[in-house]
Amino acid sequence: MEDSADSLSAKGAKRLVVVSNRLPFKKIRQKGKVKWVRSAGGLVTALDPVLRKTGGVWLGWGGDTPRQVHNRKVNFYDAGEAKSPGFEGNYVIGEIPLSEGEIRNYYRGFANSVIWPLFHYFFEKCDINADQWKSYKEVNHIFAKAIVDFAGPDDLIWLQDYHLLLVPEYVHRMRPDLKTHLFIHIPFPHHEILSVLPWHVEIMAGVTYAASVGFHDKQYLANFLISVQRAGIGKTDRSNSLIRFGEDRICRLYAHGISIDFDHFNAVSRSDEARKHTHRLRKRCAGKKMVLGVDRLDYSKGIKERLYAIEHCLEEHPELLEKVVFYQIAVPSRQNVKEYRAIRSDIESLIGRINGRFSTTAWTPIHYFFRTVPFAQLVATYRAADVGLVTPLRDGMNLVAKEYVASHSDEDGVLILSRFAGAARELKTGALLVNPYSAEEISNALYRALTMSPKDRRHRMRRMRRVVEKNDIDNWLTACWSSFHGENTSIHKKKQIPNTVGAGL
Ligand code: UDP
Repeated sequence: MEDSADSLSAKGAKRLVVVSNRLPFKKIRQKGKVKWVRSAGGLVTALDPVLRKTGGVWLGWGGDTPRQVHNRKVNFYDAGEAKSPGFEGNYVIGEIPLSEGEIRNYYRGFANSVIWPLFHYFFEKCDINADQWKSYKEVNHIFAKAIVDFAGPDDLIWLQDYHLLLVPEYVHRMRPDLKTHLFIHIPFPHHEILSVLPWHVEIMAGVTYAASVGFHDKQYLANFLISVQRAGIGKTDRSNSLIRFGEDRICRLYAHGISIDFDHFNAVSRSDEARKHTHRLRKRCAGKKMVLGVDRLDYSKGIKERLYAIEHCLEEHPELLEKVVFYQIAVPSRQNVKEYRAIRSDIESLIGRINGRFSTTAWTPIHYFFRTVPFAQLVATYRAADVGLVTPLRDGMNLVAKEYVASHSDEDGVLILSRFAGAARELKTGALLVNPYSAEEISNALYRALTMSPKDRRHRMRRMRRVVEKNDIDNWLTACWSSFHGENTSIHKKKQIPNTVGAGL
C-alpha cells in the first residue's frame, strides 16, 4: 500500500525512524512489476531485526534511478507491499526518490569515491571534486526535508553512516525541535588524513548538530574529538566526550562496536538445513582443510593481498598442496564505481593465475563465488570452514569475523583477523591477528591455523564465542540507547517503543 507522508504523521508518538542511504530492500523492476530484494551488508543484518522488534520506519533510497525526479514525495510501503523472502517485519519503509545524476554524484561520487576511501586511509583513491561535494550537500538536504516533513518531536531519528553527515545540521535548521542521532559505521580517520578534504570543517560542523554520535571504536571517537578541537567547533569536553554549544545544545559522543544476533547464528548453525549443507560442503572437501573468506567485493577488504598471501603459503609449504581448499565468497558491491570494477577484474585474474599455477587434475586450490549466499547456507559455510580468513586492510568493525565465531557451535575453527578491523579489539583473545598487508604474516598464521591442535582451537574459539555472545546486537543497542540524550533504556524491549506507525497505515 502506497501512502502519503500525511497519513503516516503521528505527531507526538514515540517511534523509531532509521535513516540510511539505502533501504534494507532494493527495488527491482521486472517485466513492469516491482519486486523488493533484500540488500546485503552489515547495517541491514544489524538493524533489520531491531525494526522488526520495535516497529517504526526505515527511510532511504530504494535503488531506482530515474533520469529526473519530478515529485520528491516519499513513497511509504508496509511490510505486505514489500513482501519478499526475509521481510516479515512490522515496520514501514519510506522510499526517498533520487535521480540518476544525484546517485552518480552524491553516492558513487562523493560518498563512495571520496569519503569511503579517505576514511579507510586510501587517500590516493580519492577523487576530490567540487561538483560531487555540491551534490552531496543537495542530497543530504533532500534527506533532511523528507525527515522534517513527517517526523514528530518525540520521534527517535537515527541516522546511519557516512552518506548523511550533513543531515543533522539541515534538520536542525529546518526543525530545531527535532533531535537527530548519528552512528558512523566506518573508521573515523586521524586528523592528518581528514584534513586532506577541503570541506572537512563544514562536515565536522554538520555532524555536531546531532544530539549523539556513535563510533565502533574509541580510537575513532578520539580522532573525531581532535578534529573538532582543531576546527574550533564548539567547546570540547574530552573527559566526558561532549561538545557544548552555549547553554542549549550538546553533542554527545560514544564508542561501542556493533555486533550480531549471536543466538540466531548459533541456532541456525544447529538447524537441520544448515547441518545438511555443512555436511555436503565437508564431503566436497573430501578430507581437505577448508579456509573461507567472505567479503563484499571492496578494495578495503584486502582480498587481493590475501590471495598473494595464499600463493606465498603454498610456495612456502608444499606439503599443503592438495590438502587445503580456499573458498572465497565475494558479494557484488558498487559495480558501477570504476574502482570496484577494476578490483573485481584484478582479483579474478589473480585467482586464475594462482589456480593455473598450482592446480592438479585432482585439485583446484581456490574456489571463487561472485554472488550473495542465502543466510542458512552462509552460516553452514562458516561452520564448515576450518579457518576463517578475515583480512581487511581497514574496516570499521567487520561482522563477518563475529558471524564466523557465532556459527561455530561445534566450538572448533580458527579465526585469522586483521589488526586493522574494529573487531580485532574484541576478538584478539582468540583470533590470530595479522597485518593484512604482509603476505608473510598471513601465510604464517595460515600455517599455524591449519596445524593447530584441537585443544588450542577449542580454547581460542570458546574465548571468542563468550565475547560475541556477551557483546551481541542487543548489547550494542542498549549502549546506543543509553547514549541518546535523556534516554537510558534498551530498545530491544518492545514495550518501551510503542509502534504507532503500523496503526496509521
Ligand atoms: N552477507 C550477506 N550476504 C552474503 C554474504 C554476506 O548479506 O552473501 C553479509 C554478512 O552476513 C555480513 C555483511 O554481509 O553481515 C558484511 O558485513 P561486514 O561488517 O563484514 O562488512 P560491510 O559489508 O558492512 O563492509
